[in-house]
Amino acid sequence: MSLQIYINGTFYDKENAKISVYDHGLLYGDGVFEGMRSYSGKVFRLREHMDRLYESARSICLQIPISKEQMEADVMATLERNQLHDAYIRLVVTRGSGSLGLDPNRTADPQVIIIADHIALYPAEFYESGLKIITAATIRNHPAALSPRVKSLNYLNNIMAKIEGLQAGCVEALMLNHKGEVAECTGDNIFIVKRGHLQTPPKDAGILEGITRNAVLELARTLNIPVSEVTLTRHDILVADECFLTGSAAEVIPVIAIDGRSIGSGHVGPVTKQLMTEFKAMVHR
Ligand code: PMP
Repeated sequence: MSLQIYINGTFYDKENAKISVYDHGLLYGDGVFEGMRSYSGKVFRLREHMDRLYESARSICLQIPISKEQMEADVMATLERNQLHDAYIRLVVTRGSGSLGLDPNRTADPQVIIIADHIALYPAEFYESGLKIITAATIRNHPAALSPRVKSLNYLNNIMAKIEGLQAGCVEALMLNHKGEVAECTGDNIFIVKRGHLQTPPKDAGILEGITRNAVLELARTLNIPVSEVTLTRHDILVADECFLTGSAAEVIPVIAIDGRSIGSGHVGPVTKQLMTEFKAMVHR
């Protein structure tokens, strides 16, 4: 059976899952989304993803046509329908189809789309040996232009930085904010370890408040690893002992070099290893 895609309460074969070319999600990137993971049939931090989705929607004046409870049930129904237990789930809400103009009042029927598919993780070698990343010249969106806390369909800012990374032979790239401080990577949050102390940029650095980031902060507190959300500069990354990234798709992934320079020993560090192991255990609890 072909993959079943949810659109507005109905399931369609992948080949027949379609929305209008007049949808403002397509025409203008006008909409919001979430990327989630299920482990053994349970969606990791489903409620947190719902909270972020509905907050993103509220921030852009988009009324999601169903309740959070209904959305959660529909996510679970999509997994069951496809008999998927360990999956990546993409939830998209568009503004709906309208006229060929920006006016969101001329749109109707926001489209709610749920895709559950097999996970596309980075290759295992990246988890064993660590990633090499670069600092992108493209800065993260100015929060007063479009808040990076909104997980909107407008990802061009991150895509431009991703292209810079790929052109340099790296699958991820660090983005600074408009003040030149460390923000996050194109699809992942960033952490460093310095003298046993875990550090990550605060929410007001202009980042997406990652659900994996929050889970790792919680884990660190439980494990009595000193941790702070603090302004970081590129210098802090260059002189860090360890560095890693977090994201729903990537989970916890080590970084061993930036801009051609080794971070710490140039190997995956002990705190990173511990958090990778503990995170694996956490998602199955
Ligand atoms: N930052 C950005 C820009 C992202 O797109 C994502 C999600 N891929 C993250 C951080 C990580 O967020 P989460 O842990 O909620 O997946």
